Amino acid sequence: MRALRLPAWKTEPELVEVDEPTPGPGQVVVKIGGAGACHSDLHLMHDFEPGAVPWNPPFTLGHENAGWVHALGAGVTGLEIGQPVAVYGPWGCGTCARCRVGVDTYCENPAGAPVPGGGGGLGLDGGMAEYELVPAARHIVPLPEGLDPVLAAPLTDAGLTPYHAIRRSWSKLPPGSTAVVIGVGGLGHVGVQILKATTAARVIAVDNRDDALRLAEECGADLTLRSGERTAEEIRAATGGRGADVVLDFVGVDATLRTGAAAARTVGDLTIVGIGGGTLPVSFFSVPYEVSIQTTYWGSRPELIEVLDLGARGLVRPKTTTFRLDDAMTAYRMMQEGTLEGRAVIVP
Ligand SMILES: [Zn+2]
Ligand SMILES: [Zn+2]
Repeated sequence: MRALRLPAWKTEPELVEVDEPTPGPGQVVVKIGGAGACHSDLHLMHDFEPGAVPWNPPFTLGHENAGWVHALGAGVTGLEIGQPVAVYGPWGCGTCARCRVGVDTYCENPAGAPVPGGGGGLGLDGGMAEYELVPAARHIVPLPEGLDPVLAAPLTDAGLTPYHAIRRSWSKLPPGSTAVVIGVGGLGHVGVQILKATTAARVIAVDNRDDALRLAEECGADLTLRSGERTAEEIRAATGGRGADVVLDFVGVDATLRTGAAAARTVGDLTIVGIGGGTLPVSFFSVPYEVSIQTTYWGSRPELIEVLDLGARGLVRPKTTTFRLDDAMTAYRMMQEGTLEGRAVIVP
C-alpha cells in the first residue's frame, strides 16, 4: 500500500510503497476513509530536532483518522468488519490512572505505551495511508449514525482539541459571558462552532486574515475582529469594559498571548491551545485578578464520543477540503501559506 512517511526530522515527507499491516492479538486494522492534515505536522517536518519528543522518524504521518474496520486481531470482540469508526489518536499504556479514565494524552506510564507520549502519526505509523494499524481495540470508537469518516476524521483532533479546551471552561460561560477565539484555522473554526453548540456565550473571533474572519462568521461568531495592536481594547469595548470570560488562543505566539491576557475578564480563563511557542510573563499585577492561565493538549476518549455526537447531529461540522494521497503535500503547502480554508482531509 502507499503511505506518506516522514523519513527523518527536518525533511519533506515521501509517498512510498510499504507493506499492508496485519493485526496482532488485540489489535485492529482500519481502512482509512479520511486522515486530517494538522498544522502540527508542519512542525514535525520543519522544526523538531532529535530529543524534542521521545520518539523519532521514520513513521507514516496522520494523527486524525477515521474509516472502516478492515481486520481484527485475535481476541477482539464487539467490532465488525466494515463498521465505520474513528481512531482515538493518543495511545497511552492503558492501565495507569489517566488511561483508565480515557485520558491517554496524560498517560503516567509512558514507558508502557506503544510509543512514549505519541500515537499513530506521532512516532508510530498514522493514517496517511490506505490502512492503519491501531495497537489496541480500545482506541476504536464506532461512528454514530449519519457521520461519514471524511467528516469524522478532523473531529478526532481539530474537533476534540477545542472541545476539551472549551469543556473545562464551561462553568465560566453562562448566558451573558463572552468567549474569544484567537486564530480561526483548522481548530479555531471548529472551536467557534463548539462554543455556539454547547454554551450560551457570545463569541468573538480574532484573526489577521479576511477569509478566516468570514469563516468565523459562517460558523456563528457574533463579532469578528482583525488582529492588531488594539484588539484587546476592542474586545473590552465590545464587552462593556469587562473583558472576555474565556480566551482560547489557537495560535500561541507572543502577540496573541499578550492580547489574550489584556482582554481577559477578572476570574477569566486564558487557555493556550496553539503551539506557536510564544511566552507570556505572569506576575500578580500583570493580568486581571484571578485569571487562570492554562495549557491544554488534545482530549479524552469520552470527550471524543461527545464530539462525534455533535458531529452526527450536524451541530459541529468542520469545513473540509479533501485531497488525494498524491496531493497531500499540496495541502500542507497551502496550510503553510495560509491559503487553506478549514481543514484538509486526505482521502487515500
Ligand atoms: Zn493535530
Ligand atoms: Zn497510561
